[in-house]
Amino acid sequence: MQIAVHPVEPALRRPRPKDDKNLVFGRVFSDHMFIMDFETSKGWHDARVVPYHNLELDPAAMVLHYGQGIFEGLKGYRWADDSIALFRSDKNWARWNGSARRMCMPEIDPADIAQALEELIRLDKDWIPKSVGSSLYIRPTMIASEPHLGVRPADNYIFFIITGPVAAYYAEGFNPTKIYVSDEYVRAVRGGLGEAKTMANYAYSLYAAEVAKKKGFTQVLWLDAVERRYVEEVGTSNICFRLDDELVTPALSGSILPGVTRDSVLQLARHWGIKCTERAISIDEVIDTVKSGQMKEIFATGTAAVISPVGEISFKDEIFTVQDGSVGEWARKLYDEILGIQYGEKEDVFGWIKKLNV
Ligand SMILES: *Cc1c(COP(=O)(O)O)cnc(C)c1O
Repeated sequence: MQIAVHPVEPALRRPRPKDDKNLVFGRVFSDHMFIMDFETSKGWHDARVVPYHNLELDPAAMVLHYGQGIFEGLKGYRWADDSIALFRSDKNWARWNGSARRMCMPEIDPADIAQALEELIRLDKDWIPKSVGSSLYIRPTMIASEPHLGVRPADNYIFFIITGPVAAYYAEGFNPTKIYVSDEYVRAVRGGLGEAKTMANYAYSLYAAEVAKKKGFTQVLWLDAVERRYVEEVGTSNICFRLDDELVTPALSGSILPGVTRDSVLQLARHWGIKCTERAISIDEVIDTVKSGQMKEIFATGTAAVISPVGEISFKDEIFTVQDGSVGEWARKLYDEILGIQYGEKEDVFGWIKKLNV
């Protein structure tokens, strides 16, 4: 793919936060963005790296009306030797094209996305913070740009990648979350959009998340939409349970987002000889085993925090503490291992790391 590169004029560079620690997630963006256009008759064209700028969209652009949009989320890590690594980005690009198909949007060759990202990071590599645990958050996005009112897949799309430095998630150590089981609102339904990383899912989640926050909880624990019985995800993360010495996570039933971190946890745990089961797990089983003490740990998994231990669950106006509300042994071990691999401090036995040639 041909990529035109237009670096920003030095005088127009964006202000860089001096202190990595005070970076607020999703607020600071690097100097450049990648962008390219799609037209049904021409395919993808005009790939370019340009200064970060506002998009210009026709008010009738279809994404604004019918929500045809997808995104991804991954990170770039600066190693102690100053090289830059990505973690399992091939999984993100495969999931990207799955989301695109589900939303009737054009796919992109994973090699082209990888090349686009490399060109972009080559210009903005100085934006990647140096302190361990901090990283460059990468947000590829595609939207329907055709100006047209009427529900059908668009003929024009814009693909772009923006990036921004983010702080270490646990600057002050793990902070177990309090989660609220929503038995009124649901996130996704089998046959719906739950397994695609598409904008509608996040719109869907807002109201229940506000209800949970008002009640003093960090996140919503989502149940399946049909029976309101089986656990699906927590917030915008997958969820894992340690039942005695078995790791249990909800099976990918169609309404669950197939997380890269979820898959990494399963692979690592199996590698360590831990029995892992992907199956339906009901909220009653969760509450019963928390009460009996058989539930040793609960933790969420996702790119932003990697592992997020759950300390408390609220279900039907009762609050249950998981063990004593502290961080479990598996959560800590998985976190240390994944972070270690991402920063080149632990051996990459699965070949998960891709070094960028920047
Ligand atoms: C992105 C996301 C996840 C986590 O996926 P990772 O690839 O591990 O970051 C889980 N659930 C939802 C709803 C998500 O959007």
